[in-house]
Formats: sequence, C-alpha cells, structure tokens
Amino acid sequence: MKKVIIIKYGELTTKKENINLFLTTLKENIKQKLQEEQVELTYDKGRMFLIPKKEQFDSIILKLQEVFGIHEINIAYELESLDLEEIQKTIFSLLKEKDFKTFKVETKRSNKKIPKTSLEISRMVGGFLLKQLQDKRVDVHDPDIVIHIELRNTKSYIYFEKVTGLGGYPVRTLGKGLLMLSGGIDSPVAGYLTMKRGVKLEAIYFESPPHTSINAKNKVLELSKILSKYNGELKLHVIKFTEIQEAIYKNIPHEYLITIMRRMMYRIAEVIAIRGNAKILVNGESIGQVASQTLTSMKAINEVVHLPVIRPVACFDKLEIIALAKKIGTYETSILPFEDCCTIFVPDHPVINPDRKLCEEYENKIPYKELIYKAIKNQEVIKVTAKNSNDFSDLL
Ligand code: ATP
Ligand code: MG
Repeated sequence: MKKVIIIKYGELTTKKENINLFLTTLKENIKQKLQEEQVELTYDKGRMFLIPKKEQFDSIILKLQEVFGIHEINIAYELESLDLEEIQKTIFSLLKEKDFKTFKVETKRSNKKIPKTSLEISRMVGGFLLKQLQDKRVDVHDPDIVIHIELRNTKSYIYFEKVTGLGGYPVRTLGKGLLMLSGGIDSPVAGYLTMKRGVKLEAIYFESPPHTSINAKNKVLELSKILSKYNGELKLHVIKFTEIQEAIYKNIPHEYLITIMRRMMYRIAEVIAIRGNAKILVNGESIGQVASQTLTSMKAINEVVHLPVIRPVACFDKLEIIALAKKIGTYETSILPFEDCCTIFVPDHPVINPDRKLCEEYENKIPYKELIYKAIKNQEVIKVTAKNSNDFSDLL
C-alpha cells in the first residue's frame, strides 16, 4: 500500500475567478520549495498529492509548513480501489498499531457516482470496526482517533492525522510589495503577514556606515534569509543613508530629525518599489509605539508618497508582535544589540505632532533630491535565499 502526502488548500477554493492563477502559483511554489527532494507533484480536484520515499516524509512536511496557501497536510494510505470492504479491512489492519479507546469515522467522497452517501459509508465502516474491535467505542464529539476516508475518482485514501498548514494565499498571487526591513522585531513580522496575503516581497534596508556596523547589516541579511523561507528568493536593496542623515543632522532642528529622515526613507522606498513593479510599501510601524508613529507623525511621513503603505502590525501590541516573531523564527536575530541608523540619530525630544509646512521648509535646506538620486544610484542589491551558502548568523 502506498503512503502519500495530501495537500489541501481550503481558502483558495473560494477565489472562483482566480482559481487557476492561485493553483498554478501554489504548484510552482511547492515545486520550488521541494526542488531538492525530487518528488512528483500531482493534482486532482481540490487536492495535490506527493509520493515521497519513506525517508523523505519528515523533511517534506517541514518544508510544506513554510508554504503559504496550504491549509492542511495529511499523510495518507492510498488504495487503488473504491471497494468499501477493502477499505474496511485496510483500516482494521492499520488500527492495530494505534492506541485508542474511542473513535469516529469521517468520510468525504468527491466521486458522487458512488451510490452510498458519505454518512452512510462512515456508519458502515464504524459498524464494522465496532464489531471487530469489541473494546472500542464511538465518540463523535471528542474521539481519541478520527479515521478519515476520502473516496476520489478511482482511488481512496485513509488517514488519521492532520498537520496544519500556514494558510493564507500562495506568495506571488497578489503581486509584489517592498518591505522596509530594519533589524528590529516589527518589520520582519510585518513582512511575514504580508507574504501570507499572497504578496511576494522585495526588501529595502537603509544603512549608515560608519555610524552603523557591518553587524547591523548582517543581521538584516540573516532576517532576509529567514523571510526567504516563505518568500522564495528575497531581493534586498541596501541603501547608503549616511550622507542624507548627516545632512539632516547638520541642517535641521533636531526635534524634526526622525520625521524628515523617515520622509526620505519613504521617498527612496517608493522609487525602488515602482522600479521593481511593487504595488505597495510595507513596514513595521505600530500606532503609538514611538514618536514617529503617532497619527500626526504617520500622516506627515506618509504624505510624501503615493503608493499604499501597508502596516500589518499597526494595531498589534508589542507582546503580540514578539509572539509572532518567535513563531516565525526572527525574534532571536532581531534582539541582537546592533545599532540601527534610526537609533543612532535619535534626538532627546522628537516632535510628536510634526507640522507639514515645517517639514517642507526644513527639507528645502538640504539638496535632498540630489542626495536621494545618488543613494539610489549607489544601491547594493543582494539576492538572499534560505539556502544561501553564506550563513550570516556566524558573522553576528
Ligand atoms: P522594528 O519596527 O522593525 O522593530 P524599529 O522599531 O527599530 O524596528 P522603527 O523606528 O519603529 O523601527 O521604524 C518603523 C519601521 O520603519 C520599521 O518597522 C521598518 O519597517 C522601517 N524602518 C526603520 N528603520 C529602517 C531601516 N534602517 N531600513 C529599512 N526600514 C526601516
Ligand atoms: Mg518599531
């Protein structure tokens, strides 16, 4: 009897008009993820199937758990028939290895030509098992074991456990976004949540050498590597921000440093996004977290761009963001103590209600268009993948 992996993608099936794009993208993303496994992927109405070798199951399941768009994964036994007697006998023999007192049978049949309904099949199999296994009981509410039967075109499947997938939409189905990725806790989480909605990410990082160290950059590279597990290859744009920051520092009242600095970051990010065909900017801003994230600050900063700015963690508490960062594996890297360009130039009293007119007046004291142009021209582009031979973690 063959052991297979069934991949289910619940939420996708509601996207009637886009279903083909969703399915093709999911298939491609899974193939990409399992590139090294050399396992064939087949598709049949609402399900995908893999037939791995015995030793591949664990690693494949782990990889599938990093693919958005997959809602559930099952390890199933495949029978080349729809014969109910054979199914019953197979279940009976499989149950010998299982330790349980109560059970429940759940049947799905995508093949509606089968004369019995799903419920009738579940009852029939349940009755058979009760007769054979005298010490077991049926419990439909809280059983020790659920016996799943799926009857498809010519084959049937039996499985007992469900592995939960990440859910969401396959990355790329909704196009591209540009993530403003600092070394902090919030922005990697914001990136993860955006990828979950089917958005493929590129990232942009502003560094200010010599005020920021190579360690700070390596930290961002390491975070990019973690995000690329979900995203596929992540294109990281590294922008030298030193000159702009120093010009701001020298010429602009310090209470406006952060506001103006962030307006410059937004402007640069928007150019990089448009050039790369990204439709949105994404960042880790969270309402009220710091002076630059009051509503008035956000408005004053947001005003310099036209692309939508998505802030997935805008309404999360820090503790909620931390919990997610731990779950996705970015937290330990994010808390490494390397100075970011924002932390170095932090004024004692940043303005919390910046005035737009003043922002513009101050900005005109520096040749910011030229500086922005230069920074973009000198950008460094790094393509980061989860498998990069360079493991940045040991540089940290
Ligand atoms: P994080 O918010 O990621 O934990 P942080 O708290 O240090 O880092 P903030 O100063 O709160 O960053 O900035 C808010 C957001 O602006 C960040 O989440 C990130 O999206 C963006 N950002 C800040 N600094 C940088 C940077 N050096 N490069 C790219 N994006 C940045
Ligand atoms: Mg933050």
